[in-house]
This record gives sequence, C-alpha cells and structure tokens, in this order.
Amino acid sequence: MKIFNFILLACLQILLTSGIQATEIENLVILGSGAAGSSAAIFAAQGGLNPLVIQDSDCNAQMALIHNIDNYPGILEEIEGVDLLNKFRVQAQQFGARFQEDSVKEVDVLNRPFRIELVSGQTIYTHALIVATGTTKRWLDLPNETALRKKGVTAASFCRNANFEGKEVVVIGGGHAALQEAQHVSDMATKVTIVNRGKKFAASKFHQDMVFKNKKIHVMYETEVEDILDPSADKVTGILLKNSQTQEMTHMPTDIVVVAIGHKANSELFQDQLKLTSSGQIVLNGQNMATSVPGVFAAGDVTSMSYGRVVIAAGMGAMAALDAIRYLDETR
Ligand SMILES: Cc1cc2nc3c(=O)[nH]c(=O)nc-3n(C[C@H](O)[C@H](O)[C@H](O)COP(=O)(O)OP(=O)(O)OC[C@H]3O[C@@H](n4cnc5c(N)ncnc54)[C@H](O)[C@@H]3O)c2cc1C
Repeated sequence: MKIFNFILLACLQILLTSGIQATEIENLVILGSGAAGSSAAIFAAQGGLNPLVIQDSDCNAQMALIHNIDNYPGILEEIEGVDLLNKFRVQAQQFGARFQEDSVKEVDVLNRPFRIELVSGQTIYTHALIVATGTTKRWLDLPNETALRKKGVTAASFCRNANFEGKEVVVIGGGHAALQEAQHVSDMATKVTIVNRGKKFAASKFHQDMVFKNKKIHVMYETEVEDILDPSADKVTGILLKNSQTQEMTHMPTDIVVVAIGHKANSELFQDQLKLTSSGQIVLNGQNMATSVPGVFAAGDVTSMSYGRVVIAAGMGAMAALDAIRYLDETR
C-alpha cells in the first residue's frame, strides 16, 4: 500500500511539473521594486536574465516616502525619493527588466521550479528568486489608533496626500524617518511636536540639526503615548502622553498624529520556508545574498534594518543579482 501511494504521488508530481512548459518558467523573478528590488533588476537585466519584477503599490516602497534624499552618493541636487526610484526603474527597463504591478499572496520555494501566486490569480514559475519585499510600518497598537486611522492618524506624511496645511501635528518616533516626517510636515503645519520614547534621537547629526534649527518643531523626550483621542468625535482631537520619568500625564490637543516608530520585515510569505530571525528578517548565509534555500536570494531591509539606507539596499540588490546570475550559470 505504501509503495502504491509513493508511485501515485510521484506520478502526480510528474504530471504537475510536465504541465509547466520550459518557456513559461522565468529565469529570475524579483519580489519588490524598492531600492533593493529595482537595483537587483538593473544588474540582473544587464546580465541578460530578462528578470520579471513584481511589486504592489508604489507607495509601499520606502523610497516613495522620502521627501528629499540627501545622502545618495553622487546626487547633489534635491531629489524626491520617488523620482530617484523611477530613475532606477527606467534604467532597469532599458536593460530589459519587466515590471508588473500585483501583490504576491503565496510562494512555494520548497519545490522546483519555484511557484508564485499573485492576488490577480496569475501563477508564475521561476528558476531563481530575489526577495526584496522590504518592511511595513509598525503601529502603536492602541485601540483608538485603529479607529482613527485615515481620520487623523497616519503612518507617513509623504505619499499619502494627507492635508497638513494649518494643522497641529504630533510625530511619534525618534529615528531618522520620524525626524524627516517632522521636517516635511513643518512646511505646512502650524506646529509640529516630536514625541520620543528615548532620551535622545537615533538619527544622523545632520537630521537632528535640521530639526533643532526648525522653530516650528518641538521635542518631548522620554514620553510615551497612552492614548489618541477622540473616536466619539470621529477624528483626532488630541493625544494623551505620559512622561516615563515623572509619570506625569499630559493631554495635548492636535489634529494629526504621524506614527513613525519603525518597521517589521515583510517575510510572512516565507514563514516555514526560509530561515528567519526571531524578529522575522530573512537570514543570509553570511558570504553572499543566498538564503537557506539554494536559488533564493534576499536583499534590502527585509534582511536587516540595522543599516536601513537606500544606498545599502541598492548595493545589496546588486549583490543579489550577481549571485543569482552565478547560480543560474552553474545550475542550468
Ligand atoms: C520616511 C523615511 C525616510 C527615509 N529617509 C532616508 C534617507 O534620507 N536616506 C536613506 O538612505 N534612507 C532613508 N530611508 C530608508 C530607506 O528608504 C530604506 O532603507 C530603503 O528604501 C529600503 O529599500 P528596500 O528595497 O529594502 O525596501 P522597500 O522600499 O520597503 O521596498 C519593498 C518593496 O516590496 C514590495 N512588496 C512588499 N510585499 C509585497 C508583496 N506581498 N507583493 C508584491 N510586492 C510586495 C513593495 O511594494 C516595495 O516595492 C527612509 C525611510 C523612511 C520610511
């Protein structure tokens, strides 16, 4: 009986894979077209792989949230993140990369060729895969925060078309993203308050100096958010804060709350398939951009947020593409 089951399964497997024509199998699929994915596309396309890049909404690439990239080597003029990202993509397309807008809902990298299921219903097969799915913003997880999302609570000021003109705004967070959000919003808002849990900011001196010089921006350190008000008014009217040293509570009136408290890796698709860290980042094998499954490579913030910069993600994307080219040369 066991042998019969085994033969039946083997036949099924042959039937299934023989249904996939060789021409339908991509050389390389890249998931994500932020800095890492788009840079991988440039190098993979230049290497002749004709890669297919799958990405969901443009607003989900972090570069699209950067008001002005001032630290990308060689770019001296003011440039919005979204414009630099478009340049990456045009360059990749010029070498032959294809971009498709869709959302990946399921992936199988435990069988070959790798299978990718899209929300649109399309199934894609590929010999190699680069995962560059980046990160998603973290929320405070306060009940009122969920109730007031899009009613004054937002995760990003830029790219979301929120109207900050003449408004009072509270930005929660202490990293470079929070400081950039505050700086960007201050062009429109009447007053911006940064509420930071820590004693100091975890951001570059350049960004800190920018904030300290800005007369519209006020800073509260060692302060936690207790609640956001007021769901019964169906909009944000204020925020309840607690000083973690004195335990003193403050009610601060505000119109908008921007939550900029960090990110979590978009790696759920690979749970139980790729080796992940306890916080969900994809583990690299240490020497290159290879993951725990041969033929699957990863790049950018989905692998680590300790550097979290465009130039790093772009560099990792280029490395992943060169690794994928080498892998395909050796295995096909
Ligand atoms: C407000 C802000 C300001 C910043 N400022 C700077 C700065 O000035 N300088 C700097 O160097 N860095 C800055 N950074 C950091 C920098 O933007 C990131 O480190 C970098 O862009 C990460 O790139 P990535 O390609 O790894 O990920 P991401 O940009 O997060 O890209 C992920 C991609 O994956 C796609 N994706 C995810 N899941 C799916 C799915 N299921 N299906 C299909 N597609 C999917 C998304 O659509 C997106 O295209 C800033 C970040 C923020 C948020």
